[in-house]
Amino acid sequence: MEFLDTDAKKSILYWSKRLYQRGMSPATSGNISIKTKDGIMISASGCCLNDMDENDIVLIDYDGNVKEGTKKPSSEKIMHSEIYTHRDDINAIIHCHCPMITAFAVAGVPIKKPILPDFALYWDEIPLVSYHCPSSIDLATSVGECFKQNNVALLKNHGIVLGDTSLQNAYYKLDLIRAYVEAYFGAEVLGGARAISKKDVNEIKKLYRK
Ligand SMILES: [Zn+2]
Repeated sequence: MEFLDTDAKKSILYWSKRLYQRGMSPATSGNISIKTKDGIMISASGCCLNDMDENDIVLIDYDGNVKEGTKKPSSEKIMHSEIYTHRDDINAIIHCHCPMITAFAVAGVPIKKPILPDFALYWDEIPLVSYHCPSSIDLATSVGECFKQNNVALLKNHGIVLGDTSLQNAYYKLDLIRAYVEAYFGAEVLGGARAISKKDVNEIKKLYRK
């Protein structure tokens, strides 16, 4: 198991700002965490990811109890904890309400058409979790279930959550999905998002597995 506690706070602050400034986490939405040897380092409840400082990061245990810090942890703390509990290989999680990605979760349009090679390399489809009240145990449980087989979940009428080995990797994957949905929207406006063939998808997967 890889622990990233040395610079966990710095890392959370850095990638939070990148996320906000990319337009992926409007207002006070979204939350970010890193798994450390002492528990989960997570952003505080109600803070804007662009304006946080070290005091807005809280250390919690896997039941959501505060171990270190003065602020209230993000209300989605149990969702983060569920993911870490199911997945030993995930060290960092980003949950955000990126408007372009969320549009798919609102319209019920699956994110799966292989229109871009880099998307097709990582995903056949971004799984969709049915709507549950934000911050609820039901949402946390459903997302945890989804993560048994996936590193990402689109949350119906809500947003997206993605886990990876580091916050940097999680951010890059999210940015890829953001680029995908923007290309999809643009292509639809210009006459239709056309997929690459199954053969092309297989070729790209083979190429990067070498
Ligand atoms: Zn949310």
